[in-house]
Amino acid sequence: MNAAIRASALRRAYFRLALGLSPAPVVVWLIGHGQPLAAVLLFCTVLTTMMIGTLVPRCAMFGPMIKHLPPSGKQVLLTIDDGPHPQHTPAILDILDRHHIKALYFLVGERAAQHPQLVREIIARGHEVCNHTQTHPATTFWMLRPVRLWQEIASCQETLTTLCPEHPPRFFRPPAGHHNLFTALIAQTLGLKMMMWSARGFDGVRTDVPTITRRIASRLKAGAIVLIHEGTPVAVEVAQAVTSLLAASGLKGDTPPASLAFGDDEMVVERRHAP
Ligand SMILES: [Zn+2]
Repeated sequence: MNAAIRASALRRAYFRLALGLSPAPVVVWLIGHGQPLAAVLLFCTVLTTMMIGTLVPRCAMFGPMIKHLPPSGKQVLLTIDDGPHPQHTPAILDILDRHHIKALYFLVGERAAQHPQLVREIIARGHEVCNHTQTHPATTFWMLRPVRLWQEIASCQETLTTLCPEHPPRFFRPPAGHHNLFTALIAQTLGLKMMMWSARGFDGVRTDVPTITRRIASRLKAGAIVLIHEGTPVAVEVAQAVTSLLAASGLKGDTPPASLAFGDDEMVVERRHAP
């Protein structure tokens, strides 16, 4: 990526930060003019708004994101986070083959670099690799400053593109779905669309496979984006249960069309074959 483009993105990110901090002088002014209650109210409103925009994964306050496909048709997206994994990836690839499902793998760059053959195998089996940061700093990603965000996303993009130059990632998902004021801006500058989900069973923290599957089943419908993980104690069992669920539903798990676009909740995708 051109250094000038990076510098421009970082400038815009810090401009956003300045805008985000702009109520601070007003708070100080209110305190100085004997209106502490108004100052506290303004401070809490701004802080709450910023925290919701950052920590609620499907909140698009700070930039566009894809949350589901149009409900017409029978397509769903099965997305698999946190790989590749030396045991889970081969097992899950076989499961997907058995059900004729193509998935999106949101890979962690440093894990991909450790297992390049698995990344190539994912591509060779017809799936798509996507960007899930270089080191997956799940607990701190929401508070990274622009320079560190750029490093995480750009390094993963470079790692995956080097491994599969014919299939550069086109989608990005932040760890735990947390994204701050700068994340969407930086992802977009790197040519990535941010993708969240509409159906998950919290398999990253739960181990009760029936409960995980039931929760996903309750949200499974045409246009859904399903999220499961590798690297958990129940990764293979969850993949087996969810792919069986998909197969029984009559919905088709496939990779997204080339023209997947941002938009409102009802119209986030263009037709695969536009007239
Ligand atoms: Zn993750």
